[in-house]
Amino acid sequence: MNVNHLMTELERKHPGEKEYLQAVREVLASVEEIYNRHPEFGALRIAERIVEPDRIFTFKVPWVDDRGEVQVNIGYRVQFNNAIGPYKGGLRFHASVNLSILKFLGFEQTFKNALTTLPMGGAKGGSDFNPRGKSDAEIMRFCQAFMTELWRYIGPETDVPAGDIGVGGREIGYLYGMYRKLARENTGVLTGKGMTYGGSLVRPEATGFGAIYFTAQMLEQAGDELARKRIALSGFGNVAWGAALKATELGAKVVTISGPDGFIYDPSGLDREKIDYMLELRASNNDVVAPYAERFAGAEFFAGRKPWEIPVDIAMPCATQNELDGEDAARLLANGVRYIAEVSNMGCTPEAIDAFIAQKAVYAPGKAVNAGGVATSGLEMSQNAMKLNWSREEVDRRLHEIMSSIHRACLEYGTEPDGYINYMKGANIAGFMKVARSMVEQGIL
Ligand code: GLU
Repeated sequence: MNVNHLMTELERKHPGEKEYLQAVREVLASVEEIYNRHPEFGALRIAERIVEPDRIFTFKVPWVDDRGEVQVNIGYRVQFNNAIGPYKGGLRFHASVNLSILKFLGFEQTFKNALTTLPMGGAKGGSDFNPRGKSDAEIMRFCQAFMTELWRYIGPETDVPAGDIGVGGREIGYLYGMYRKLARENTGVLTGKGMTYGGSLVRPEATGFGAIYFTAQMLEQAGDELARKRIALSGFGNVAWGAALKATELGAKVVTISGPDGFIYDPSGLDREKIDYMLELRASNNDVVAPYAERFAGAEFFAGRKPWEIPVDIAMPCATQNELDGEDAARLLANGVRYIAEVSNMGCTPEAIDAFIAQKAVYAPGKAVNAGGVATSGLEMSQNAMKLNWSREEVDRRLHEIMSSIHRACLEYGTEPDGYINYMKGANIAGFMKVARSMVEQGIL
């Protein structure tokens, strides 16, 4: 395999799909060397096959808003790869959603899910529906309209969607209700469900908790510890909330959160009351963090800016793809950042990652750091299949074990001769090898 040749071909086939092409290039560049030591991969064209989704569904989603007007959105499901298990991955509802973004997310999901040790393939879906400012009734009608199409393509052993940006517990509830009515069955077809109808304890916190478990291990590996570290978080949704909760519990100090309107700098650090307030901000559906500074004395709001200008020990992007660029990285490094745990999917641009690695700052990619979310979805599927519920301690213990196993896999494939741990390379190779081997063993499909 030659990455440049393959990318030229892919750019010709999928012009303009920039996020998808970016994600593919990153993974292929990491695995090129080891891939070329396995002649069977080349002979079976594993690279050419693994970069294309198995299939993509797109459908229109017409619905009626509160003024009685008809709205039309586009719905998607990208079933990327099911070599190691049923398709699995979230649904994103956001105005920016397009095919390139969902293909990049489905591609990333394939390797992330392989890292979790659980049998899950990769998928992603969603809609360009913008939840901002929508009433509860509008959200319900949209979710119901979306599911009247999606339900044909999914199933508990076929494809199991979940949440992502814009899709939380409320949306999963409405989506699940419609699926149950249409399919006339109660099965674990979605994860992130409510506790009254088959959800798992710890699933709401899991992405953030897993990210902090992973970060604590990264620091420990470097002979350091999480307690008393200053952390900059971006975002203020479910993922940032879980990360803030666990980081604070373990004695670290979270000093920033952010939204599309700007960021909050809170030098005294988030405490339980402030973390709970994040849920209130989110529930308001306005997509803003500015009110935080009015509510809590000492906190400052910086309109239209990103939190990466604040000096911290650890940066954790928790919002969306490409939210931390080369300039942000240079600033963080100049201010002495030592660890970057990417929690959003592809949160850092290639220029940012290159800068971190060149300076030997410890950078770990989203597919390793945020895998606790989908891993706990996998644990929800196990509980649904057994028709049993595990205790909070049981789920948390398994989540912890899975994050440790992902960390070990990164060390195995990412430790460089001088001892520097390239977590990006480690995670990409470990995830890729599992999916590639499984494709080799199962024939050309
Ligand atoms: N959207 C989450 C992710 O990016 C969770 C997916 C899931 O639980 O299936 O991994």
